[in-house]
Amino acid sequence: MESSLVKDNPLLLAINRQKTIYDGFITVQDQDFRLRIQLPADRQLKQARLHCSCKLKHLLRGYEHIVKQRLQQSADLVSFMLELKTVMEVGLKSRPECSSIPPPQYYSQLISEMETLGWDKLLSIDTEFQTLRLKVQDSAGRQHILIIKLKSKHPAEAPECSADLPLPLLITWTPQSTLAQIHHQFLLVLESLTEFWDVLDEIDRQTWILEPEKPSRSDTMRRIAIGNNVSIKVEVDPKHPKMLPECCLLGAELVVTPLRNKLNANMHLWNPDSSLLLNLQDVLEIEFPSPATHEKSAFSVECGICYSYRLEAELPDQVCNNPCCGQPFHQTCLYEWLRALPSSRQSFSVVFGECPYCSKPITVKMPTHQF
Ligand SMILES: [Zn+2]
Ligand SMILES: [Zn+2]
Repeated sequence: MESSLVKDNPLLLAINRQKTIYDGFITVQDQDFRLRIQLPADRQLKQARLHCSCKLKHLLRGYEHIVKQRLQQSADLVSFMLELKTVMEVGLKSRPECSSIPPPQYYSQLISEMETLGWDKLLSIDTEFQTLRLKVQDSAGRQHILIIKLKSKHPAEAPECSADLPLPLLITWTPQSTLAQIHHQFLLVLESLTEFWDVLDEIDRQTWILEPEKPSRSDTMRRIAIGNNVSIKVEVDPKHPKMLPECCLLGAELVVTPLRNKLNANMHLWNPDSSLLLNLQDVLEIEFPSPATHEKSAFSVECGICYSYRLEAELPDQVCNNPCCGQPFHQTCLYEWLRALPSSRQSFSVVFGECPYCSKPITVKMPTHQF
């Protein structure tokens, strides 16, 4: 019996001469679980006591009665250990969190890879030693964070990598790959985006950005203030940041129409060698108000109905077309306001009514999130 016990469970050994106490590990699916088996003097399994580590206890939770029954019924320790492994395999299937605990060689692999990469690049690591945050600086001096989630079967299985980027991060991985190679691939991705961030950083520095409130490195959209209640929304292509972006002018028709006409008429003047900001100013024939010359409050006029600027994600972008009024409203506020008035009229999704400020005709579309 002894020889097949050792063969099946090389990490479990009798620790006394009477062979009544066994201590060590039981291995299931490449994972080792600590346990100790105490047998009575006659080495009968029926009276045996099983001590499990926390990890093993957690795995066997709900299966205790089966384990007890197997102890009672197994002919010897060899067959009991086989039965126990079967129960543990069932347990691992129902508790995937147990199977995510990596084997010991995982940690030595991780340490040697970090030594090659350089510990100074590690910002933080979680308590399971599976999620790493690396700091990476690109050639333009911008700081980035690369998050790497290692799999328990690292390096056989590819890790999950993510970062604040405008494009999906694609990393090539083979079982021979290392963290240093991921780091290198990430640097190449950052270099390919340098021009995109140069273009956006210039806009962020020299104009008033109304949206997003705090642009992140992955944001490709900017809503730039042009004047009181007039703005332009541009969607920059990360792969071709200097090409004419998708543009949308927002504000009162009276002001927006001439700008739109200029944009259409001057589009051919767009120069891909020049910066996005300069090109936009050239084709629109304007100069954007900049933080150096204007206060931001001049462009963030609050809604004339709820008196706030930001309503969840909505900004007051519905503007009264009467040039003497020009009051901005949130779409939701104006829609609710007009719908409640008997003088208003609705046709499909558009409500026609009077501006709450100047009583001149105003229309609003039903907000898309309302039904
Ligand atoms: Zn409002
Ligand atoms: Zn008005």
